[in-house]
Amino acid sequence: MRPESALDKFLRYAKIDTQSRDDAETYPSTEKQLVLLNLLLKELKDMGLTDATIDSHGYVMATIPSNLPSTHKAHRKAPPIGLIAHVDTSPSASGTNVKPQVVTYQGGDLVLPGDSSVVLSAAENPDLAQNIGRTIVTSDGTTLLGADDKAGVAIIMTMAQTLMTDSSLLHGDINIAFTPDEEVGTGTKYFDIKKFGAQFAYTVDGDTPGELNKETFSANLAVITVFGRNIHPGSAKGIMVNSIRTMADIIVRLPKDIAPEMTEGYEPYIHPHVLEGEEAQSTLKLLLRDFITAGLDTLKQRLEQIIREVQLLHPKARIELKIIEQYRNMKDYMGSDPRVLDTLWEAAKRAGLEPHWIPIRGGTDGSRLTEKGLPTPNIFTGGHNYHGPSEWLSVDGMNKSVETVVHLTQLWAEGSA
Ligand SMILES: [Zn+2]
Repeated sequence: MRPESALDKFLRYAKIDTQSRDDAETYPSTEKQLVLLNLLLKELKDMGLTDATIDSHGYVMATIPSNLPSTHKAHRKAPPIGLIAHVDTSPSASGTNVKPQVVTYQGGDLVLPGDSSVVLSAAENPDLAQNIGRTIVTSDGTTLLGADDKAGVAIIMTMAQTLMTDSSLLHGDINIAFTPDEEVGTGTKYFDIKKFGAQFAYTVDGDTPGELNKETFSANLAVITVFGRNIHPGSAKGIMVNSIRTMADIIVRLPKDIAPEMTEGYEPYIHPHVLEGEEAQSTLKLLLRDFITAGLDTLKQRLEQIIREVQLLHPKARIELKIIEQYRNMKDYMGSDPRVLDTLWEAAKRAGLEPHWIPIRGGTDGSRLTEKGLPTPNIFTGGHNYHGPSEWLSVDGMNKSVETVVHLTQLWAEGSA
């Protein structure tokens, strides 16, 4: 019997609903994520990873033990390397009853069978051109696909299967972790770095083949609250202070060029994200993002300036600004050991790719882990268009990612030989 391919694994995992939920009281945020986490635990044990565990928060961890010959001197031992993927899918699109469509892409626009309004357009997806005549996977258009990050899960499981069945592949200890709740920003909340054991780690949670990530945004949440005064509109003259009008004057002054829809690459932004309000109180949440952490202060100062201006127009309203730290650019904490990045670059080259570093206009679980002392850059999976029904996966890209992580484990062992 041929070993199960990364695609076979992906198709099995994609059908399991693992959508996470914002503002949940429990951890993981949804019970159903545990279905896949427990399945992975069983499959890791079946592969012979005898130390595989699931903890009370749902984190699955396991070790592929080093097979370096004992002639390797202790001090030359390859450091333990971690590989991490998240099982949950985004709350932004349904993850129930996912029907993966495995198709040979023929070029042009691809209309999905379950909803003809969902089209993978060749113009909006330049990476499709690399997949003409090749196999891609889409959803049927009524749900997301969940390549983010079940492709990463399938890649790591395929790597584990490869290392466990081919003893000619030499490697040090390889630590594997599967995590819940990445999409709701709490994927590393209870992640036990010490128990995990890795000295360097990689999330397998990127997209285009060859793209590697060592930089993310630094991120703060700004919360502007306007306190007004409510009274029956019939007797409001001279008394009512309508917080909605004050908030409107704030919103209209937000910079229009420093916005996600107007920026790319390393450009920062201020992004009004959630708005709630009544006469007595209105709240606006804004995402502040910059690759330079100090730049977040500049963005805050712009908000303070706007608030000062608007306060003069609405002297009876009280305006409050709160800044909440979210995550930091992993580059600031990557440390001085060049191997963590050099090895990844070389592994992608050995897999026949032209690697390139791309700054992530967002955060990853690796941003938080790196900040906590575990350097964790990110590796592509072959997936695209995350968080919506037009999500698709290049099977070639996924297989290249498997090759890259297998080479990565070899390179770390070679470096120590
Ligand atoms: Zn992801």
